[in-house]
Amino acid sequence: MVSSPIVATVLKLPVHLVDDYTQWLLDRRQDGGAQVVTLNAEMAIEGERDPRLGEAIRQADLCIPDGAGVALYLKLRGYREARRVPGIELAEAVLTAFGRSPQHGSVWCYGGKPGIAEAAAKAWEQRAPGIQFSGIYHGYLDEAGRSAMLQTLRETQPGLILVALGVPRQEYWIMEHRHLCPNAIWIGVGGSFDIWSGTKERAPAWFCNNNLEWLYRLYQEPWRWKRMLALPKFAWRAFLETLRTA
Ligand code: UDP
Repeated sequence: MVSSPIVATVLKLPVHLVDDYTQWLLDRRQDGGAQVVTLNAEMAIEGERDPRLGEAIRQADLCIPDGAGVALYLKLRGYREARRVPGIELAEAVLTAFGRSPQHGSVWCYGGKPGIAEAAAKAWEQRAPGIQFSGIYHGYLDEAGRSAMLQTLRETQPGLILVALGVPRQEYWIMEHRHLCPNAIWIGVGGSFDIWSGTKERAPAWFCNNNLEWLYRLYQEPWRWKRMLALPKFAWRAFLETLRTA
């Protein structure tokens, strides 16, 4: 039986605290699978506004503190063990484990522009030679393509399903289709295929270590500025909530 994580809350949404997230997920592979949500400030604010996203976050088996704001909030609330766990790094650790021990099953990639998931999978075949990809699909399929993919997904039963459709599409999609592979690990990985394929770059370590990955992302993708207005909103809401419960 897999141990239950500590459940903290951030703006009424759950965040799960576990010592070793990778191992927890690998254990769940034999014990009911898991949907992973990578919670950051933007998503927490959006989850309050969009009830369907809020539901997807609440019913996920594992909500990790992906964003620096979420981790800082937890620390301020007394969870001293809380630390930031970027979703891309957790996905990388699980992929590495699947490469090392192919008995965990095959890997499925869905999302990104045509060619990107293939390039990401190729990069992983070099990085973790034991890895087996059983399905690779871009994120712009038409209706017929989507239903053919679902049929194959049902038959293939991969162990790890990475979905890169962006928030909230990927969370909706996983919530709706999880029953098709009940023992798999399902992770919404946002732009990770873009990074693994070499199409985009992750922020240099200095930005990541100083909680400024969002700033580098804004520099790379300036069109994100509107979405990032959620960051001060999150800080303000978190401050009010801390005062209210102090
Ligand atoms: N995407 C997709 N299908 C769509 C819309 C988006 O596959 O209909 C992909 C897009 O190509 C990109 C990813 O979803 O690779 C979104 O990445 P982003 O970094 O914006 O993720 P977020 O920050 O929203 O999690």
